[in-house]
Amino acid sequence: MSDTPIIERIEFTAFEVTIPDMSADAAGFGISYTPGAAKPQLRFGLRIHTDTGVVGEYVPGRGRAKVIMTACEALAHRLIGQPALQREKHYRSMRQLTKHIGEVGIGALDIALWDLAGKHYDASVSELLGGYRTRLPAYASTIHGDRLPRGLSSPGAYADFAEQCYELGYRAYKMHGWHGDLAEESAMIREVAKRVGDRMVIMYDGSGHLKTLADAIQLGKVCDECGLYWLEDPYADGGVSVRGHQVLKEFINTPVLITEHVRNLETTTDMMVAGATDFARADPDYDGGITGCHKVAVAAEGLGMDCEVHSCGPAMRQLMAACRNANYYEVNLVHPDCPNAWSLPFYEGGYSDQLDCVGDDGCVDVPDAPGLGVTYDWVAIAKAAVETRVVR
Ligand SMILES: [Mg+2]
Repeated sequence: MSDTPIIERIEFTAFEVTIPDMSADAAGFGISYTPGAAKPQLRFGLRIHTDTGVVGEYVPGRGRAKVIMTACEALAHRLIGQPALQREKHYRSMRQLTKHIGEVGIGALDIALWDLAGKHYDASVSELLGGYRTRLPAYASTIHGDRLPRGLSSPGAYADFAEQCYELGYRAYKMHGWHGDLAEESAMIREVAKRVGDRMVIMYDGSGHLKTLADAIQLGKVCDECGLYWLEDPYADGGVSVRGHQVLKEFINTPVLITEHVRNLETTTDMMVAGATDFARADPDYDGGITGCHKVAVAAEGLGMDCEVHSCGPAMRQLMAACRNANYYEVNLVHPDCPNAWSLPFYEGGYSDQLDCVGDDGCVDVPDAPGLGVTYDWVAIAKAAVETRVVR
């Protein structure tokens, strides 16, 4: 027994969750609104146990569990016997170990280590990071469009949903469109801007679906015309081309947000310095955990730029709460007729990232309990478990 907790074992639980009217592909990479769908989707959670009894926990809300849990498990072997509070050392070690395989698997372990540290020090993660605010302005970020009667099936349906989000309290709204038809996407942006542009901040995220740079430039001009707040990952380079986005920015005025699809601090910083993006993007699940993302936010701050935290969950809230230079919390992926598949029903105490999680002020809370500030319902997770693996 020591004052500094030593990692004794790391427990992974793969479990299934059924999200009404939402289907996922077999590998768990993509989800879509599918009325009547009831096939379970795979998720996982992990617990880092130490010799002092303090436990770090994290349950990523999103899919891709097959790939990510496997990568986490491989890295976990290197953490056994290590001091749990040396997150910086572990971050560097895990990046080194995964440098040939896309640096996958670091996020969930690092986030659980932050949860553990918060419980050790009796402070929330945002307090450990310095603390800046306790409420976060949020945007409703839609799932991709569909062709279904109660779905996001037309420009008007997107505009109707924007009005619904406004009534719920949101003051910002982001469209993920269909899958890259320039005329269709442009019509959607124009209709949403016409309906709510006078009272909501509007963003568009192409998720890499427009086919060409020329289409991205044309769509960017529509964003200019409609006064969009940002244009995100518009075209099929995947949001990774420095030169492509430099060219795009020569032709349009709307701020461009890329770097969601490149990993980690150094590449994101290079893209900011190269003028390929007007914002940094950071995701604790994918960019080296809270350790990696806080570095991205500080790098952006040093350049006088903003860092937008990707996606929703307690880790994202704790990170953004510590960042001065982040504008909006992303409540994704929401839809008018089905739940948010990234917000799992396995929290005790009412934590939620469902569509109605915002207050009248358009903001969400930051949990103030130690660590991530949430309590996972491990009994319910155990009931839904399909596999448990323990690394010791
Ligand atoms: Mg995006």
